[in-house]
Amino acid sequence: MLTLLDVLTTGEPDAPALLSPDMSPLPFARLREHVVELAERLAAFGVARGERVAIALGNGPAMALSFLAAATCATAAPLNPKYRQDEFAFSFADTRATTLIVPPEGMAAARAAASPAMTVVTASIRSDGALDLALERGARAAQPWTPPQPDDVALILHTSGTTSRPKRVPLRQRNLVASARNIVAAYRLTPDDRALCVMPLFHIHGIVATLLAPLASGGSVVLPPGFDAMRFWGWLTAFRPTWFSAVPTMHQMLLARAERQLAAIRAAPLRFIRSSSAPLPPVVLEHLEAAFQAPAIESYGMTEASHQMTTNPLPPLPHYAGSVGYGFGVEVTILDDHGVELPRGERGEVAVRGPNVFDGYENNPEATAAAFTNGWFRTGDQGRIDEQGYLWLTGRLKELINRGGEKISPLEIDDVLLRHPAVAEAVAFAAPHRTLGEEVYAAVVLRSEATERELREHCAAFLADFKVPRVIHILSEIPRGATGKVQRLAMAKLLGLTDD
Ligand code: ATP
Ligand code: MG
Repeated sequence: MLTLLDVLTTGEPDAPALLSPDMSPLPFARLREHVVELAERLAAFGVARGERVAIALGNGPAMALSFLAAATCATAAPLNPKYRQDEFAFSFADTRATTLIVPPEGMAAARAAASPAMTVVTASIRSDGALDLALERGARAAQPWTPPQPDDVALILHTSGTTSRPKRVPLRQRNLVASARNIVAAYRLTPDDRALCVMPLFHIHGIVATLLAPLASGGSVVLPPGFDAMRFWGWLTAFRPTWFSAVPTMHQMLLARAERQLAAIRAAPLRFIRSSSAPLPPVVLEHLEAAFQAPAIESYGMTEASHQMTTNPLPPLPHYAGSVGYGFGVEVTILDDHGVELPRGERGEVAVRGPNVFDGYENNPEATAAAFTNGWFRTGDQGRIDEQGYLWLTGRLKELINRGGEKISPLEIDDVLLRHPAVAEAVAFAAPHRTLGEEVYAAVVLRSEATERELREHCAAFLADFKVPRVIHILSEIPRGATGKVQRLAMAKLLGLTDD
């Protein structure tokens, strides 16, 4: 019972599994049967197990079904549909994709990047919720289809590339199923739960937390065409989800509109709101709970661990702003620089172990060797575990600002800046400095007027002098990577800062 096909059998046959504004609900009985038909269809086009199927589709039921089909026939390699031609070409070559799934219209950059040898398949959803897969070009000899095995690689993704060049992460059927089931257990998801999927499905957070976990509980998933802070409220009213998961930036965009959307918020029976993939500033957690009248639960995830490693629990157990909770089905420890486990309360590198964790980067034995110590996967994040067993992240080892030997967590500075009423977004980062090595800088986006001097005075009221950003750049937008993450390490370069 450890492949994605097993996940699709959890629900009652007649219960809705996939819902979307453009189609009638697809029930569980039809979903499983249909995914097998689609996998057989890909095999008939020549796709063999072990091959990589690149997918360039926006969010929605066509993307969800294409992913399930590709992962059931071979290995799915979902890509950001906003990529430019060069980025697609790099990804196809890097993952050795033999097949590409695109919509019938558009996605010219992906089509142009596909080599003549690649098989191109189009995917379009019908109003009854079934997917049409059609061959556009590059038919090959038909392959036999056999059900996937737990050790088969179901998915290949790149890490976000926040701290270095993105690394290729192969995830097996059993890794994904274990992670989806951990999430079901952590939030006690049941067939009555309904998730609203706003996270991109080319990212591990979207695939596991917002597609596979709801299906693994026998509940349903609503698949709108992707995150939209304006249309979000209409989906709450129309589909009445019991939870949704998003990154902190999306939560902040929703909060900016929540006050005017009280009717939509009341219409949805939200049990909880989940945040993952980047630190949730405590002040944003407080505002989310006030606006949505539901607990805001922070989780800690990573591509290499098939997404979730830890999460805060739901009430009546306590959840804390600034903590990422504890492992559900995942062991968590803190290691020192030599890979020795540290006692509770001490700060070091977070390491994890469990059936959700991958077993190595693809074609990168050095990175794999550096990442594992005595069976523990080293996350590269710094943190400590308190008396109650809750994990508190204090930053990424590589992102700590090293000011003349004083290691400063940028997260603390972000949170102080966000507490200023004029600040909508904030990122503290290291800028090169001739004598100190690194100096604390910050960039903010404002929602109302404020001067740099006022912001620095505000910081000085809450932070020791050495942590107060020496310079605060006021920007109209914070530059971000492809998965929407702030690239703290690239900020100084992006702003053209050199030694002073
Ligand atoms: P790369 O490994 O290429 O530098 P990346 O680590 O950003 O990129 P992902 O796998 O998408 O790629 O992200 C995992 C990282 O995201 C974690 O190691 C951690 O630093 C951060 N993260 C995830 N959830 C949280 C959270 N709740 N709080 C703080 N950081 C988080
Ligand atoms: Mg990483």
